[in-house]
Amino acid sequence: MLLARKDVLEKDKWNVEALYPSLEEWEKDFKVWEGVENGVRWPNIASYKGRLGERAEVLNELFNACTALDRQLSKLYTYAHLRHDEDVANDTFKHAYIKILSLCHKLREETSWIEPEILDLPQETLDKYLKADSLKDYALYLEKMIRMKPHTLSAEKEELLALAGRPLETSQKAFSAFNNADLKFPSIKDEKGDLRELSHGKFLLYLRDSDRTLRENAFKTVHKSFASYENTICELINGQLQRHVFERRARNYSSCLEAALFPHQIDLAVYKTLIQTVRSCLPSLHKYMALRKKLFGYSELHLYDMHVPLVSDVDFKIGYEEGEKLVVDSVAPLGEEYQNILRKGLLEDRWVDRYENAQKRSGAYSSGCYDSMPYILMNYQNTLSDVKTLAHEAGHSMHSYFSNKNQPYQYSSYPIFVAEVASTFNEELLSMHMLSKMEDPKKRAYLINQKIDDIRATFFRQTMFAEFELKLHEWADQDVPLTPTLLKAEYYKLNKEYFGEDVVVDQEVEMEWARIPHFYYNFYVYQYATGISAALALAEHVQKEGDKARRDYLRFLSSGCSKYPIDLLKLAGVDMTSPKAVEAAASRFDSLVKELETLLLAENSRK
Ligand SMILES: [Zn+2]
Repeated sequence: MLLARKDVLEKDKWNVEALYPSLEEWEKDFKVWEGVENGVRWPNIASYKGRLGERAEVLNELFNACTALDRQLSKLYTYAHLRHDEDVANDTFKHAYIKILSLCHKLREETSWIEPEILDLPQETLDKYLKADSLKDYALYLEKMIRMKPHTLSAEKEELLALAGRPLETSQKAFSAFNNADLKFPSIKDEKGDLRELSHGKFLLYLRDSDRTLRENAFKTVHKSFASYENTICELINGQLQRHVFERRARNYSSCLEAALFPHQIDLAVYKTLIQTVRSCLPSLHKYMALRKKLFGYSELHLYDMHVPLVSDVDFKIGYEEGEKLVVDSVAPLGEEYQNILRKGLLEDRWVDRYENAQKRSGAYSSGCYDSMPYILMNYQNTLSDVKTLAHEAGHSMHSYFSNKNQPYQYSSYPIFVAEVASTFNEELLSMHMLSKMEDPKKRAYLINQKIDDIRATFFRQTMFAEFELKLHEWADQDVPLTPTLLKAEYYKLNKEYFGEDVVVDQEVEMEWARIPHFYYNFYVYQYATGISAALALAEHVQKEGDKARRDYLRFLSSGCSKYPIDLLKLAGVDMTSPKAVEAAASRFDSLVKELETLLLAENSRK
C-alpha cells in the first residue's frame, strides 16, 4: 500500500516550503508578476518595440527587464511543477501548474519579436553592441544570438515556418501513438512452455532473465511485430527526415547534421570524430563479446544474450540512508567544499523527495531554478540502480548549484551538450568508490559487469545509432528513396560490424531501428556517447592528477553557459574535438573487461 502524500514524513520530502511557505504566498507573488490581464501583459517590455537600434543602453534595459521577469516566472514555475509532481491527482496544484505554464507561454509570445528585431539591425550596429560597455553583461548572449543571423529568415518567412511547426510534428506524434498505444505484442512461451504476456516494459525485463527461451522469444517476437508494419514505420521515419531536410534547406544549412548542431554551437567535427574513434575502438567491444561467449559457455552468443548479467544471484539491498552515505562518500575526490555542500543538501536542507507515494510522478530527475535549491525527485526502492540514480541526479544538482552560485541569471543554465557530463561523472565516482571497498569477489564482479554493460549501451550502442541516423539523413537529403529493404540492410550491416565475429547477429535485429523513439529526435543520441566519454576521462583525470584537475573540473561546474559548450569542457580538461576522450573511455572499458575476466575465471576455477 502506497502512502497518501499527506502521510509522508517530513524527512522524506523535499523542502519546497523554502521556495514559498504556502500556495497563498505563491498566489500573491503570481499576482505581482502576471502583468496586466487584458491585452498586452507586460507593456513595459512591449514599449521597447522598434527602439532596439537606438542605443546599446536601450537594449541593455530591455535585457534586464526580460531577465528579471523570466527569473521570477521560473521561480513560480518551479514551485508549481514540484508540487504537481508530488501528487499528480491533486487538482489545486494541477491548476496552479497549468496557470504558470500558460503565463510562461505568454512571456515567450510577448518577447518573440526581440530576436528578429535585433537580427534585423545593420551589421555595424551589431558590431558596436558586441563591444559596448553597457552590454558587457550580455556580450556572449548577444554573440550567440547574432551567429544565427545567416540562418534566420525575414519576419514574414519566420512566421510561416512557425505556422508549419505543428503539422511538421505529425510523423513523430503518429509514431509515438503507434508505439505507445496501438501496437500490441502476442504472448510468448518461456522454457516451461507457459505463456507470458509481452509489452515494452516486460521486454526489457525478459531480456535480463536467465530463461534463455524466454529471452529468445521476446527478442524475436518484438522485432517480428514491428516488421509486420515495416512500410508504415518506414514512412513515419521518412516523414521526420523530410522535416529535417525541409528545415535545413529553408534555413540555408549545408546538411541536416549542421542544422541540428549549429544552433547548439557544436562543431560537426565532434560528431564525426566520435564515430571514427569508436569505430577504431571496436576491437575492445569484440573482446568483451568473446568473453561473454566463453563465460556463458554457449556455442553461439546471440543478440538476446546481451542484457543478462554474467554474474547471477547477487543481491544488493541498500536502504536510502546507506545509499545517501555512499553517494556523499564517493565525491571525496572533488574536495571538502563539494562534499560538504552535497552532504548538507541531502541530509539537512532536504533537496530530495525520497520515496514513491500515491500518484507521485514516476522516475527521477534533478530540477530547480536560479532562486531555489537544486531539488531531486526519486522513487527510491533500495536497489543498487537506485543508488546510481541518486548519484546521477546529485551530479546534476551540484552542477546547477555551482552554476547558479557563480553566474548571473543569463549564464546560469548549462547547455544540453554538457548536461550529462556531471551526472555520469558522479556515477563513475560512485562506482570507483564502491569497487574500492568491495572485497567479495562475486559482488565485485557483479559491479564491474554492470559498469561494462553501461558503457556498452551508452558508448558503443549510441554511437552505432548516431551512425545510422547520419546515414538516414544523408540519404534523405540526396533524395534516395527510403525503403524498408534499404534501412534493414544498413542497420543489419552496422550491427554485424559493431558486434563482431563472436556474435550471431540474428536477422530479426534488422527491424530494431523501428522501435527506437530517439530516431525522431534530430541528432540527439550522440550526446550520450560524448557525455560518457567526457565524464570517464574527467573522472580519471581528477583521480590521477589531483588538485589542479579538481579545480578545473569545479570551474567547469561553476560556468553555466558562460562559454561555448566545447570550451566549457576544455575548461574542465577535456577536448571533445580530439579523439582522446573517446579513446580514454574505450580504454577504461578494456581494463574493466580485463579485470572481470580475471575475477570470473578465478571464481570458475574455484568451483
Ligand atoms: Zn541525467
